[in-house]
Amino acid sequence: MSATLIDGKPISLAIKDEAKKEAEELLRTRGITPGLAFILVGDDPASEIYVRSKGKTCAEIGFHSVTETRPVDTSQAEVLDLIARFNADPSIHGILVQFPLPKHIDEMKVIEAIDYRKDVDGFHPINVGRLVIGRPCLRPCTPAGIQEMLIRSGNDPGGRHVVIVGRSNLVGKPVLNILLQKQRGANAVATIAHTGARDIARYTREADIVIAAIGRPGFITGSMLKPGCTVIDVGINRIPDPTKKSGTRIIGDVEFTSASEVAAAITPVPGGVGLMTIAMLMKNTVLAASGTLYS
Ligand code: NAP
Repeated sequence: MSATLIDGKPISLAIKDEAKKEAEELLRTRGITPGLAFILVGDDPASEIYVRSKGKTCAEIGFHSVTETRPVDTSQAEVLDLIARFNADPSIHGILVQFPLPKHIDEMKVIEAIDYRKDVDGFHPINVGRLVIGRPCLRPCTPAGIQEMLIRSGNDPGGRHVVIVGRSNLVGKPVLNILLQKQRGANAVATIAHTGARDIARYTREADIVIAAIGRPGFITGSMLKPGCTVIDVGINRIPDPTKKSGTRIIGDVEFTSASEVAAAITPVPGGVGLMTIAMLMKNTVLAASGTLYS
């Protein structure tokens, strides 16, 4: 079997286009332009690239955005002041603090300082709690993007057994909480595996849908999969590759060649889940700007 590719490009483009149209409608009917504030502390090149690319997407789809960049020795109090300023700014509907932050800053304190109605990353404890109990909320972008990929590629998780490998607060747990909801596009029977499992393959071989969010290159192989399953590879791992000019390349948590011989559908890395995160950030921002979620 050679699996069908679940291409993140057309799906993420369609979502960005929807966000653009929703923003146009907000402007036309209520005079609101969605506004997103980025806070970048330090000089991590990858973080700088992420923030620049998110700002570029905002401009492309008609959002207003501001970026506040601070040096690595910025105090926690200064970051909290910046957040307070954006919390009070009516032209800003979403606040994104780029992680990781320098070690002397407590990331949880930063997350908790953001007005939960502007928490477009979906990490604030109020949003986490609302997600768990099935109340409307801003949901983390990558997990929400995974759900969209499944639905839009004809792999609705409803009634299917989903095995998620990885239980991080960033990916694994929120994916579980999204796909468990008794709602259209969710309603999965879900299992989560992690380092406590003695034999990961015992779980993944039972799965109709495997979601790999592990951070280990090529960890899930074809022999660990049930024939005909769907595979969502969240992993982004940089490995050495002397054939590349940069000397490295990005691969996922799934060994693509063997997995695509067994699965019916699979996401590539790059070009899969990675493209969904910014698209869902735009969706969250327009949703936050509409002010309808928590009313
Ligand atoms: P993380 O916080 O390091 O969590 C990794 C999870 O995988 C943990 O729950 C860990 O289990 C589990 N795990 C690690 N090794 C394992 C093993 N040998 N067997 C079973 N479980 C194992 O990572 P993350 O933030 O969730 O990210 C996971 C991957 O997704 C990374 O490659 C990251 O770069 C990528 N990612 C991509 C996007 C995107 O596409 N936009 C966004 C976020 C993350 P324990 O809890 O037991 O330690």
